[in-house]
Amino acid sequence: MIEVELGAVSAPLVESDVVQAQTENVKSVIEYGQLDADAVRIVLRLRQYGYEAYLVGGCVRDLLLQRTPKDFDIATNARPRQIRALFRNCRLIGRRFRLVHIFSRDGRIFEVSTFRADPGTSADSEDLLIRRDNVFGSAQEDVCRRDFTINGLFFDPLAACIIDFVDGYSDLKKGLLRTIGDPEIRMREDPVRILRAVRFVCKLGFEIEPPTYAAMKAAVEDLPKCSSSRLLEETFRLLRGGIAKPALQMLMALDALELLFPPLWRFLNEATEREKETFFACVSGLDAWLSGGKGCSDAVILACLMIAVANPFQVELQEDSMEKLQGFLRELKRDICLPKRMAEGCRNLLFVQRILVGQRKYKGGLRRFREHAFFEEAMTVFEIWNTATGQFSEELKAWKEGREPVLKTSARKPKRRKPSQEHLPKERLPEEGPEIWDSASRPSETQI
Ligand code: ATP
Ligand code: MG
Repeated sequence: MIEVELGAVSAPLVESDVVQAQTENVKSVIEYGQLDADAVRIVLRLRQYGYEAYLVGGCVRDLLLQRTPKDFDIATNARPRQIRALFRNCRLIGRRFRLVHIFSRDGRIFEVSTFRADPGTSADSEDLLIRRDNVFGSAQEDVCRRDFTINGLFFDPLAACIIDFVDGYSDLKKGLLRTIGDPEIRMREDPVRILRAVRFVCKLGFEIEPPTYAAMKAAVEDLPKCSSSRLLEETFRLLRGGIAKPALQMLMALDALELLFPPLWRFLNEATEREKETFFACVSGLDAWLSGGKGCSDAVILACLMIAVANPFQVELQEDSMEKLQGFLRELKRDICLPKRMAEGCRNLLFVQRILVGQRKYKGGLRRFREHAFFEEAMTVFEIWNTATGQFSEELKAWKEGREPVLKTSARKPKRRKPSQEHLPKERLPEEGPEIWDSASRPSETQI
């Protein structure tokens, strides 16, 4: 065990920093085994060469909350090139932030960032958005440009102490999310922080301090100023984290969903209570699946959101619902830069649902469908739909027991209507399963 004494500031900090660091003498405990040996080694090597270096951000927060950190980030006063000179397996990345990624032997990545100072946006200026952030600074300056107090703690593994300039530890104990500095400025500077706030409160079960919440709501209108790839990545971090239901509800309440997922926002506004219930039951099913440690691809996540939107099982409406889905996916590709591969993966996963329930034939027979590359992912979506609605339990049981469901007598290749001009799909709409799913088109984790 490492005894953590808050306020015990380690030697390399300059005096002015020490004065402003919190001196609350609270003891906390971090399990020694929770620390990552490679991360500690990186800190040690930087220290050996005379630099300041600490563990920082989410890993310190999670260690203090007795949670397992997802990754270990390191902050140092060494410049990116100086860091690179000390480590063989590393590379410089990032335009907005210059960072160093150090690769461990087992393939994990440690992010090492150089302390940064405020890039110098004036509070009076109309546009507070930070576009470049590469002004280097001290440890304390670095903390001040981090997002929330609970993410602004340093941990010094050598001195076994927490360095807290922003009262983050007391917020951790209170379960309170609060921006570092003026919430209005901090949210306008980088509206992606709205999504980060949603993630942290949903994940940790924290409260948002009212001024921070008000600033989030006000800065929603600035979301379109952010790069779509960052927005998409943060949105998917919410969906992947097993917190999709509370997160989507909070994004609705903040009026942010309209900008982040326009078709979903429209659906939730127009849907009947019953449709909304089904939608959120699917999302809860997805959360339970992910929280149970079963991973899934982003295409499966998207399919779980879209399955209630374009219900593929309504026999009379099947063609309409697929066209509706195609339209939504096109819109997502155009408006939020959803990668094509993910859109195609989602479309195919929903398309094959009808094969799973025996409403549609599979060339080569249902038995061979089990061998298809898509089968496992399609079953995940199917299982989540079954948990949410209670429908098709017999068919699911059959597949799980190694049998195939009985083909419905009406299962046939539906007659294609002549598509009207407004519905004319740009891409080919899959008609029968096999031709569209060669292994090359199989969806994989999206690189956003
Ligand atoms: P997680 O455990 O989910 O990875 P995290 O807090 O580690 O959460 P990261 O995205 O890994 O989140 O970021 C690491 C740290 O970098 C944060 O804890 C925070 O201090 C800082 N940070 C990240 N994004 C921002 C941002 N947009 N604005 C300010 N600081 C940020
Ligand atoms: Mg992290």
